[in-house]
Amino acid sequence: MSRFASEKLNALEAYTPGEQPRDMTYIKLNTNESPYPPSPAVLAAVDRGEVENLRLYSDPEGADLCEALAVLYDLAPENVFLSNGSDDILNFAFWAFGGDGAVFPAITYSFYPVFCQLHGIAMETVPLEPDWTIDPAKLADKGKLTVLANPNAPTGIALSPEEIETIVASNPHHVVVVDEAYVDFGAKSVYPLVEKYDNLLVVMTYSKSRSLAGARLGFALGNAGLIADLNKLKYATNPYNVNRLTLAIGKAAVESQGYFDGNAQKIIRTRAKTVTALEKMGFQIPPSQANFIFITKPGLDGAVLYQKLKARGVLIRHFSQPALAQYNRVTIGTDQEMETFLAQVTEILVEEGTCCANC
Ligand SMILES: *Cc1c(COP(=O)(O)O)cnc(C)c1O
Repeated sequence: MSRFASEKLNALEAYTPGEQPRDMTYIKLNTNESPYPPSPAVLAAVDRGEVENLRLYSDPEGADLCEALAVLYDLAPENVFLSNGSDDILNFAFWAFGGDGAVFPAITYSFYPVFCQLHGIAMETVPLEPDWTIDPAKLADKGKLTVLANPNAPTGIALSPEEIETIVASNPHHVVVVDEAYVDFGAKSVYPLVEKYDNLLVVMTYSKSRSLAGARLGFALGNAGLIADLNKLKYATNPYNVNRLTLAIGKAAVESQGYFDGNAQKIIRTRAKTVTALEKMGFQIPPSQANFIFITKPGLDGAVLYQKLKARGVLIRHFSQPALAQYNRVTIGTDQEMETFLAQVTEILVEEGTCCANC
């Protein structure tokens, strides 16, 4: 911290990203990236000519990509907003639509409170149910910006489109943001509702199911008015915030949607196998529709599991918040990565003396 920082900056508690350590090679099950490479079409989309064209600014509208996404989601290009990752879009959405305050579940993506603090937005949180589900009635009719990750993080539990529609319909004078970062792993998107509700903004990302976390590309689907508001903020901050290479890659990824859907199906199958194996060892896991699982085992300390796995070259995500401290979030990798993870967990259970007959 310098002596020049404003009071507001000094008081800000920023988001803590998952570790990206460089001390050794880990099996990385901590930041919900895809274990699979981008599609061959994506790899072919960037050639020397594209790199040479970097001397030119990118298209601030990303019109070609907006059109491709509009076709994919059966909407119009005016319903599509592009930005530098979906965190960037969430930032804009809080900034643009949080004037009357914001509400979200008490346990969810830990970036939301940071945006509230950053923009001076009054924040309300709604507790989860004891089984980690969200009761949609508790988020209904709040009269303020309502934000919902679906599936939720770090639980992986999803609401149905019908449940989300009750929240959107109950709050017609404020925006409802549905953060669908993990929707491709088994939940159902609410994007078809953007034509029916002018207050619904669906936020999606290329970082998870599309294997492009490092390209930094997110998009939002919503009523043309909402999209225009987001564009105004983008043009007031950084109009070229999606670079030329990423625009090209993003369009190639739309053209190979089938490849990415296939990868999501593989992850769903690996998730089922991993859950079965962990449950046999006595772990408790809420039903996940995401590319991660939220695991705990009575008698096994959550921080100990995290540390011992890290020492053995397997990184998972541990949260220090007291309510989550006995849990860990584990990204679903390839079958082989998960077999290694399970073998290491088994050894740790033996060491910790919490092994059961199935270990
Ligand atoms: C990963 C994630 C995002 C953001 O990802 P970007 O890489 O910024 O697109 C947004 N919301 C949730 C809930 C996430 O887990």
